[in-house]
Amino acid sequence: MESKTLVVASYCNEGIPSAENFRIETTTVDVANLTDGEFIAKLLILSADPYMRNMVRQAGFSNRTIPIGNPLTGFVTAEVVESKSDKFPKGMFFGASLPFQTVQRLSDGAMLKTVSWNLSSYVTRETVSHGIGVLGMPGATVYGGLLKVLRPKEGETIFISGAAGAVGGLVGQLAKNICGCKVLGSCGGADKVKFVTETLGFDAAIDYKSGDGSTATLQAALAAVAPKGIDMYFDNVGGAHFEASFRSLRPAGRIAICGGIGEYNKAEYSGVNINPLQMIYTQQRIEGFLSTEYLIAQEFLPKMKQWMDEKKIVAVPETTFAGIESWPTAFQALFTGANTGKVVVTV
Ligand code: NAP
Repeated sequence: MESKTLVVASYCNEGIPSAENFRIETTTVDVANLTDGEFIAKLLILSADPYMRNMVRQAGFSNRTIPIGNPLTGFVTAEVVESKSDKFPKGMFFGASLPFQTVQRLSDGAMLKTVSWNLSSYVTRETVSHGIGVLGMPGATVYGGLLKVLRPKEGETIFISGAAGAVGGLVGQLAKNICGCKVLGSCGGADKVKFVTETLGFDAAIDYKSGDGSTATLQAALAAVAPKGIDMYFDNVGGAHFEASFRSLRPAGRIAICGGIGEYNKAEYSGVNINPLQMIYTQQRIEGFLSTEYLIAQEFLPKMKQWMDEKKIVAVPETTFAGIESWPTAFQALFTGANTGKVVVTV
């Protein structure tokens, strides 16, 4: 069966990677004579996620570098189209981290070396893209970062950067509808501000692009919507957003370090200017976390599905690109802000 693979063609250490950094290779996958435990998977959806930025950065600039000519590896949803595996039977939908190769001959043993989760009870063919979003790695990020790291209390105020994105938009909805928080966001542009307040239900949002992007400007904008300060900050951006939030943090405040997309295209990360002594008498906390442990937690998928069914999650917006060839353009959207919600690439 013909298969297309997206491989790394060259590196980009600074700025937004372009189509030249990737190429497609076409191969034929032998799908005949499966042995016990083997199966054939067709990828249906490819994810484009900010952490992948480090895969196209030369070794020395990154600890995730993919050698030139090797396939890009990332989160996908796939369908089992032939099978001699009890764990991956024909017709099953699953999510996994796998090479971006559209048809793959896999085995139970090979799947033990990566993370995968059964989506068959949670998605239909029409909603299979949720497997890389709300029912996949970004959903697990929100579940863990909000509920386990920040641990909101009813009535508290949370500020979320990257509010119109896959992670940020979901953090806001759960903080509002599950935890009973006052929810404030930051995003780029008036349309996104309108979207997060009117569609996602944020109480207010800042258009960070309308100012000079400095810490002082962001802090003033935050003070206008949270005059008494904030109890929690969910950081997707880093830099001035982090500094402004840290300076606006109330006693017993918490910051979850989820990501720092404002830094990812720099040759070297800038760091931030804060005074950590602020945290002593206020008993504040800053904690970094990774989605992985929450993605494989038993309760994650049933809980997310329940909250979708109960309309606690009111919207799971997606920005969709068609075809594996469009993946580089989809990836760029994360850094230009061309996406609202999850970036999805259909195969
Ligand atoms: P996303 O928010 O859907 O897309 C990225 C968004 O970032 C863009 O739409 C853009 O929105 C914003 N952005 C881009 N450059 C920016 C800049 N210089 N300053 C401010 N905002 C900028 O992406 P996502 O998948 O949900 O990821 C969000 C964050 O979570 C990323 O930092 C990612 O690395 C992190 N993450 C962490 C984990 C973990 O395990 N810790 C897991 C998943 C994701 P605007 O139009 O608003 O600028």
